[in-house]
Amino acid sequence: MDPRVEQFMAKIIAKNPNEKEFHQAVQEVAESLIPFIEENPKYKHAKILERMAEPERTILFRVPWLDDKGEIQINKGYRIEMNSAIGPYKGGLRFHPTVNLSILKFLAFEQVLKNSLTTLPMGGGKGGSDFDPKGKSDNEVMRFCQSFMTELFRHIGHNTDVPAGDIGVGGREIGYLFGQYKRLKNEFTGVLTGKGIQFGGSLIRPEATGYGNVYFAQEMLKTRGESFKGKTVVVSGSGNVSQYAVEKVTQLGGKVVTLSDSAGFIHDPNGITAEKLAYVMDLKNVKRGRIKEYADKYGVEYYENKRPWGIKCDVALPCATQNEIELADAKTLVSNGCYCVSEGANMPSTPDAVEVFIEKKILYGPGKAANAGGVATSGLEMTQNSMRLPWSREEVDQRLHQIMINIHATCEKYGKESDGYINYVNGANVGGFVKVAEAMLAQGCV
Ligand code: NDP
Repeated sequence: MDPRVEQFMAKIIAKNPNEKEFHQAVQEVAESLIPFIEENPKYKHAKILERMAEPERTILFRVPWLDDKGEIQINKGYRIEMNSAIGPYKGGLRFHPTVNLSILKFLAFEQVLKNSLTTLPMGGGKGGSDFDPKGKSDNEVMRFCQSFMTELFRHIGHNTDVPAGDIGVGGREIGYLFGQYKRLKNEFTGVLTGKGIQFGGSLIRPEATGYGNVYFAQEMLKTRGESFKGKTVVVSGSGNVSQYAVEKVTQLGGKVVTLSDSAGFIHDPNGITAEKLAYVMDLKNVKRGRIKEYADKYGVEYYENKRPWGIKCDVALPCATQNEIELADAKTLVSNGCYCVSEGANMPSTPDAVEVFIEKKILYGPGKAANAGGVATSGLEMTQNSMRLPWSREEVDQRLHQIMINIHATCEKYGKESDGYINYVNGANVGGFVKVAEAMLAQGCV
C-alpha cells in the first residue's frame, strides 16, 4: 500500500475502531484520491479528505414499538448526516438486522461522492435501523415506522435532510414514514423520496437504480463497441434494484439467468422473461416470499446458501448487498469469460475482488457511479416537489438516462489511463470529489 494511504488510514482506524466496512470504503477512496490531492495541495492544506471522513452529525436513537402480541420491542435508529457542502443531506434508510454504525457510515461516505457525480445539488447521508421487516405484519411495520419517525422528524426536512429507501425500505415503508412526518409537522413537503405517485412520488423512481445501472453498463459496453443484445447476464438479489435491472436488460435484448436472496439463488438458463419477472415482483413485493419458490414454479435449479457468481456470463450485475463478490468469486467470473461488472449494490465487491477486475482490465463500474441513478431520480423527485409539478415517465427516464451517460463521461475523463483503459474507480472517486472539495474550500473551515 502507498505509505501516504497507510498513514492516512492509521488515523481513520484509530478514530473509528471496529468499523471495518467504513475503513474499507474510506481506503478505496483514499487510494484514488491521495495521489490526486498531492498534485493539488490546496485540498491537502484544507484537510478536505480528513473532514469528509468525519460525519457532520451522527444521530443515534431508541425505537420502541409494540408487536402484534402487545409486547414491547426495541430497535436502534440511526441517521448519519455526512456532508452538506453541495446540498441537503440525501441518502437512503436501511432496515436490516445487520445494520450498525460502520455500515451506515460507509454508505454515507460513498453517498457524498455519488451524489456529487449526479451533478444535482445533494449532500450525503444515510440512516436506518437493525429492525427486520421480514416476517412482520403490515401493522407491525407501520408501528415501527411511526416510532422511528417520531424521533427522526426533528432532524430532517426538505431543505435539511431528505431520506429515501434502501434495503428493507420500499414504497410501503416510505408511505408510513411520510404519513407520520406529515402528522408531526403539520406540513406537506418533499421530506422523503420514493413516495407513492399519489402523494408526490416521481414516476420512474422505483425503476431508477436498476435502470440506471443498466444504462451505465450499456455505456461501458459501448466503449468496446458492444451492447446488451445477446448477452448472458447474472444478477444477484431479487429486490428493488435487481427487479428493474432484469427488466431493462431484457428490454435491451440481454438474457438474465439468475436471481438470489439471502438464502440462495435460482438459475434459469432460458432467461427470466417479462412474464417470469412479473411473478418475481408479486412474490417479493406483495407475498414477500423467498426466491426458492421461483425454482419450484418454473422447474429450474435452486442453489441453497450459494451466490450466483459461478454461472457463466458476459455481464454480472451484483444488486444485493456489500461484499457479496469475494476474491474467489471474482476469479471465477473472469475465468468464465465475464468482462463487465456493473454494481447495482453498494460496495458489493471486496477490495481484492476489485483488484482482479482492474488487473484483468475488464469493464468494472463501482457502485457509486453505476447505481447513482436511484439518488439522481430522488433528486428529480425533489425538484418536482419543489415546483409542485410532476413530469411524465418519458421525461424522467430521459433525464435519468442522460445523467448516467454524463456520469460515465466523468469517469472516463478522470479515470482514463495512458493505455486507454478506463479505471472507473479512480474516475468516480476523483470526479465526485472535486465538486465537494471546491464547495468545502469556498465555505471555509466548517
Ligand atoms: P431490497 O431490500 O429491495 O432487496 C435487497 C435484496 O438483496 C434482497 O433480495 C435481499 O434478500 C438481498 N440481500 C440483502 N441483504 C443480504 C445479505 N446480507 N446477503 C445476501 N442477500 C442479501 O433492497 P434494494 O434492492 O433497494 O437494495 C439492494 C442494494 O442496492 C443495496 O446494496 C443498496 O444499498 C443498493 N442501492 C439501492 C438503491 C435504491 O434505490 N433502492 C440505490 C442505490 C443503491 P432477502 O430478501 O433474503 O434479504
